[in-house]
Amino acid sequence: MNVKRLQQCLEQVNQFGYSDEGISRLAYTNTEQQALKHLITQFENEGMTIEIDSVGNVIARREGIDPALPAVACGSHIDTVYNAGNFDGTVGVIAGLEVIRYLNEHQIKTKHPIEVIIFACEESARFGVATIGSKVMTGLVEKDELTHLVDKDGITLKEALQSCKFNMAEANRAKRKTDEIKAFYELHIEQGPVLEKEEKQIGIVTGIAAPTRFKLQIFGQSAHSGSTPMSHRQDAFSGAAEIALALEKAARQEAINGTVATVGNCEVKAGAMNVVPGETEILIDIRGISEASKQRVVEKLYKIIHDVEQSRKLNIEIVKLCDECPTKMDGAIIASLKETCEKNGFSFIKMASGAGHDAMNMAKMYPTGMIFIPSKDGLSHHKNEFTSIEQILVGATLLKEEIMKAAQVTNKAYC
Ligand SMILES: [Zn+2]
Repeated sequence: MNVKRLQQCLEQVNQFGYSDEGISRLAYTNTEQQALKHLITQFENEGMTIEIDSVGNVIARREGIDPALPAVACGSHIDTVYNAGNFDGTVGVIAGLEVIRYLNEHQIKTKHPIEVIIFACEESARFGVATIGSKVMTGLVEKDELTHLVDKDGITLKEALQSCKFNMAEANRAKRKTDEIKAFYELHIEQGPVLEKEEKQIGIVTGIAAPTRFKLQIFGQSAHSGSTPMSHRQDAFSGAAEIALALEKAARQEAINGTVATVGNCEVKAGAMNVVPGETEILIDIRGISEASKQRVVEKLYKIIHDVEQSRKLNIEIVKLCDECPTKMDGAIIASLKETCEKNGFSFIKMASGAGHDAMNMAKMYPTGMIFIPSKDGLSHHKNEFTSIEQILVGATLLKEEIMKAAQVTNKAYC
């Protein structure tokens, strides 16, 4: 693997959408499409064939000795949030390109074809829905479910696709078959502080957490903050606060299973200093990779809601906004990644991913593995997001070794 080439490749992609405030390379914008064009040229220069599906997923393919065999695939995304950093998504794509360059340079042949996939619209920044490309590719979402999506400028997803010469009407044709891919790997920055704190080079992802989300509307009685005695109050905000603290406690009790819970938004009405709040709305996000553990937190949440309703004489309406299942990574791939780390002397830990990735959708259809590399200070979706080129190289090397293993190298020297 060529560290200089890897660095150069990263810098070239990050010229697209660069500004002093960070990188803005939103899905289906001219900037993003130019960056894709640049990468497609790089893949073509390596002799790969390119297929772009109806929603803009780019599939670059290096043929195997037996083209009928399922492909070994890797990939990630190059679209970003507003004012993003240099590494989220992009690292997984350029590492895939470097793997291909390495194989070509050493004239390494594989039985299975190898694919590098650049997934379209991974970030929810533009249309409010994440991982659209991989969801369409794996049939997790159909075109009818995408028609209502609109960005902040009123441009629909359909119009955005049209502007890039893609066709929403044919979106369902982007769904791939289960026998097309043997294994899928995504290399990604951790976007959290664990690897840096533990001083490890690699995180082998065991599962990707899925959110269960609630909106609670708490109704009490609005009253004068001076003339209403404490014993006569039905304070909606205090009820919300009690629920928030009990939820935090419930999640702490599940810390060993990695479950987390957050009240990220609270709206208090009337919202005046001298009025006992008659109404409060809170938004709750519970995530974990253990369904059972997440369920225990949800059950405790329901219990505390009931208790608060009774003890504080409040009415609480519960709206479940979503309830998604955590995704497990493939056991054999986890074991193989561990073996390769040990063989190469890479320090590693097994860990869960708190954030969603394209890999979680691919895992619904194909044996999937995910490799994390450290993020400085755990920072991400920020212009100061940082992972050193040496850290990326370790991840890319692990990716290369795994792909060579899964795609079955035929050159004796590399077997
Ligand atoms: Zn990402």
